[in-house]
Amino acid sequence: EMAKAASVCTPESMDSEDTLFMLYTSGSTGKPKGIVHTQAGYLLYAALTHKYVFDYQQGDVFGCVADIGWITGHSYVVYGPLCNGATSVLFESTPVYPDPGRYWEAVQRLRINQFYGAPTAVRLLLHHGEHWVRKYDRSSLKTLGSVGEPINNEAWQWLYQVVGEGRCTLVDTWWQTETGGICIAPRPSEENAEIVPAMAMRPFFGIIPVLMDENGKVIEGNDVSGALCIAQPWPGMARTIYGDHQRFVDAYFKAYPGVYFTGDGAYRTKKGYYQITGRMDDVINISGHRLGTAEIEDAMADHPEVPETAVIGYPHKIKGEGAFAFIVLKEQTADTARVKEELKAIVASKIAKYAVPDHILVVKRLPKTRSGKIMRRLLRKVVTEQSSSMGDTTTLDDPSVVKEILDAYQKYKEK
Ligand code: AMP
Repeated sequence: EMAKAASVCTPESMDSEDTLFMLYTSGSTGKPKGIVHTQAGYLLYAALTHKYVFDYQQGDVFGCVADIGWITGHSYVVYGPLCNGATSVLFESTPVYPDPGRYWEAVQRLRINQFYGAPTAVRLLLHHGEHWVRKYDRSSLKTLGSVGEPINNEAWQWLYQVVGEGRCTLVDTWWQTETGGICIAPRPSEENAEIVPAMAMRPFFGIIPVLMDENGKVIEGNDVSGALCIAQPWPGMARTIYGDHQRFVDAYFKAYPGVYFTGDGAYRTKKGYYQITGRMDDVINISGHRLGTAEIEDAMADHPEVPETAVIGYPHKIKGEGAFAFIVLKEQTADTARVKEELKAIVASKIAKYAVPDHILVVKRLPKTRSGKIMRRLLRKVVTEQSSSMGDTTTLDDPSVVKEILDAYQKYKEK
């Protein structure tokens, strides 16, 4: 077919605001929305962020291993790299097929210079051991990137020290389907400016982050937390939700009039850097202590026998809310009682006693979208016993996981 096609074709002229594509968000928090991106602004934004966040130089081989069908694949496999004339790697395997060395084998074989992937894959790989990484030559790597979820400290250090041998720039990039491209990342910055592990840190050109309080007021100063909003439009922002513009306005511009609401919470450090604390609806309030469920998950991730965890809040008579943890064990044969006690001790010492989950339930796997995000709202439905109204589950990687978790929960309850 390629031989029959002409090597040159006349490009079609488009209006800058014509639709380029629409993409359904992962739906990790609700009914999927058809996010619409348009031509010129999106392309400009994808190209600039690709060039400056990853320090892409002409001739580099850019390897973004995200699924091409999701926004990360759109912006950093297709549009950004191709607009910059880059060589872009199309990765079609999984991180563990045919074995856990797959990424690094690809890095060696294709001489990849920038490697961009998801924390969920890193967490999976780090439990398989370093020899899968060390087997391959990674000297071509210059920049490593992480996207999709908060990256916990252990995963960040592993990517930086083991994969990058402590010499590559590692950028934790925060953005959303709706933003079109990276909005907060440690680079670009002044040359050699510090990078704080597991933190997105600095807004990209033109992005003005603001933190808002519960009364809709801008929170000034540093060492403060609030709802993460963006105060002025940027080229890559979505234009509408397909077929439902009112929903677009309501979801992103209603909670805090005059600014774009991301749905995420953030902490601005003493030095003025941004740390994403997770979805606002993934925040729980235990006896008056507000904390992100991600903080508890991050603490538990330190346990070598527990590769994955998901924590949710549930109504608690005395404490207001309590923490309920779902965990996956590395070995099915592990001594669960001991592991649970150790997890509780870790949370108590790393955060505080009040943050210790009241319940820890072992499951075979967590409910995830095809892009690897944990659908915590499904877990919340299980624990609050509203499993008859699970909502939209079409973006789940494997819908049979719901029954599996319901059964595990039922057994746990009976015990
Ligand atoms: P999606 O548009 O479906 O890819 O999901 C976007 C959401 O993923 C954001 O609103 C964040 O909650 C989360 N997210 C993406 N990147 C990061 C990151 N680097 N750190 C923390 N959360 C992230």
